[in-house]
Amino acid sequence: MRILCADIGGTSIKLGIVTDEGEIFDFTEVPTEGKKGGARVIENLISGLQAFEGYDAIGISTAGQVDRKKGSIIYANDNIPGYTGTQVKDILEKRFKKPVEVENDVNCAALGEGWLGAGKGLSDYLCLTYGTGIGGAIILGGKLYRGIGGSAGEFGHMILHPGGRDCSCGMKGCYEAYASARLLVEMAAKADPTVTNGRELFSRISEGDGLMKGVLDEWSSEAATGLASLVHIFNPQALILGGGILEQDTAAESIEKKSRELIMESFQGVAFLKAMLGNKAGLFGAATLHIK
Ligand SMILES: [Zn+2]
Repeated sequence: MRILCADIGGTSIKLGIVTDEGEIFDFTEVPTEGKKGGARVIENLISGLQAFEGYDAIGISTAGQVDRKKGSIIYANDNIPGYTGTQVKDILEKRFKKPVEVENDVNCAALGEGWLGAGKGLSDYLCLTYGTGIGGAIILGGKLYRGIGGSAGEFGHMILHPGGRDCSCGMKGCYEAYASARLLVEMAAKADPTVTNGRELFSRISEGDGLMKGVLDEWSSEAATGLASLVHIFNPQALILGGGILEQDTAAESIEKKSRELIMESFQGVAFLKAMLGNKAGLFGAATLHIK
């Protein structure tokens, strides 16, 4: 079986044909142009999909909360204005005459990691992606746990500091307002204005910069506070952590060390794993919507 998959992200739509053997062909990217609105995103998606032939079905991984049955967008934030309510499945099935399945991008990434990546062979794990915010997904008993509205796993909005920093969701003190990758870079820039990105931060740490090491430790402690609670709630086999910052061994090790200091002895069997599929996780996950 060959599934044409698309992963609609903030800046680009990734496309490729995924086979049920787990191979990917003709990987390509087109601009999302999310700020120009949902209608433009769908136009870009369709023109990207049109370039392919010889497939049996279409799988879509997308930003926003997704109604899995209808294949529509229940809610999307201002990164794609007017995307809320878009009937993605209907539009694509009419246009391409193939079965279409649609799922949220973080959920797709978790399904992809379970099929071919860090979650292979695991039944119970949580995925967290540290970027501008913190995305999350829950796999229990080998199945994606979606919640009633398909929005379970919003770990970024656990309120860990009541009355604290403003969050993008409108609340105060959320996990992602303290432990996103964006915050790490902001904290570093505040400590030393010449550090303006993650790459610079980690190169300073590797050179033995104590100030930057301190910033990473402080950020890791925030990240660990959320992770320890999740481990105690779900008792998972593994946490699969992704996002550019987590590809740095220094960051991954720091988070694991701080987390283990907060995790009860009987839960210490949990493994801390790095996401393995990078920017292809969503495409592989979108394919599983048809395969499984
Ligand atoms: Zn929030």
